[in-house]
Amino acid sequence: MISLKCPHCQVGLKVDETKLPEGIKSFKCPKCKKQIPVSLLATEERSSNTSDTVLLTPVKAELGCIIVLTGLNTPEQTFPLHEGLITLGRKSSSSEVTFGIDTTDKLMSRSHISIEVKKDPKGGYKHYLSDNNSKNRTLYNNNYLEAGETVVLHDNDEIIIGRTTLRFKA
Ligand SMILES: [Zn+2]
Repeated sequence: MISLKCPHCQVGLKVDETKLPEGIKSFKCPKCKKQIPVSLLATEERSSNTSDTVLLTPVKAELGCIIVLTGLNTPEQTFPLHEGLITLGRKSSSSEVTFGIDTTDKLMSRSHISIEVKKDPKGGYKHYLSDNNSKNRTLYNNNYLEAGETVVLHDNDEIIIGRTTLRFKA
């Protein structure tokens, strides 16, 4: 257990370093909600006798995933998303998408949608959906995406490409 002071609001914090998720660079102060760099845990002068101490267990920011729902042409599939640009479409030997969907749905383009996953400055991730100029367009929560339009995905959002329904899980 490491004790330190939040550099923003000076509240005393106790951090269980064994529970720090791998790969995070910062965690959120439970009092002022500002980001504290993980590097502070190693360098900060440890203050063990602060009166106002909050126990803090940081949780790793979760990346979303896309679930392809079972359909007439399609078995259920799950694609865990990662940071960066992700493209999805109908799987074929010539397709160069990040995730090829196993389907016989011919209304789905080989590169149908893009999801750009970016780190949020507040911690966490944002997922941006756009249509790849697909022939049959993309329905996002029952609205067609316009050319060049980008929407931010939220938990349980529905995306329909061709006759196939995808669900975003945050
Ligand atoms: Zn703080």
